[in-house]
Amino acid sequence: MRKPIIVGNWKMNKTIAEAEEFIQAIDPIVHDGATFGVATSFLALQTSIKNAKNLIVAAENCHFAESGAYTGEVSIPMLKEIGLKWCIVGHSERRQMFGDTDETVNKKVLALVANGITPIMCCGESLETFEAGKTEEWVRGQVKAGLAGLTAEQVGDMVIAYEPIWAIGTGKSATKEIAESTCAIVRDEVRKNFGEEAAEKVRIQYGGSVKPNNIKEYMAEPDIDGALIGGASLKVDSFTEIIEAVK
Ligand code: PGA
Repeated sequence: MRKPIIVGNWKMNKTIAEAEEFIQAIDPIVHDGATFGVATSFLALQTSIKNAKNLIVAAENCHFAESGAYTGEVSIPMLKEIGLKWCIVGHSERRQMFGDTDETVNKKVLALVANGITPIMCCGESLETFEAGKTEEWVRGQVKAGLAGLTAEQVGDMVIAYEPIWAIGTGKSATKEIAESTCAIVRDEVRKNFGEEAAEKVRIQYGGSVKPNNIKEYMAEPDIDGALIGGASLKVDSFTEIIEAVK
């Protein structure tokens, strides 16, 4: 049985003080029905890790190099030093606005795994690709490229988030049928490249306008093991409702 995993992706929101306040409010209500977590700005990570007893804390990005002339970037050894255990990679906003490619996403995934940090690797198609009926081909390509060079065991321990770009922050969530069918494709691509055991173990999230009123629908689908949640993870009230809904 795969344990569900629900992660709030705060993006460029919440100061250190705001993150601390939010975690102090939410952490005590976290239950064993799922792994719950938040992904914060680099600045808020250290405080968040200190305050979170039950929540997991993730970074939203990292650089793949250990150190060097990469102005403005944060390395994995820096994240390791503060006790970070999880990291989102390849979010569509990073791919669209900050030049992440399948190749750099793969480098980040490999470097994180080598350092004992669990990647939450994102994939997902644009509206254009979706409307052209090319979602399957696109997502299979991203998954295969992003996971290249990992062992089956390493893939089994990871999290992959399927987030159709047209559903992110738009309030236009994918139907549960679309979300399930693409998450099943993601799992099948893992199966094809890494075998049955890795495919059965890897946790696959759906992301894109997940809210308290639709989370249950997604969680009932066999290949959806959780959610990556933007907007609805920013308010204590709505994140609380989500945590309660997943009991
Ligand atoms: P959203 O964001 O829930 O606001 O659509 C999801 C994400 O980008 O991870």
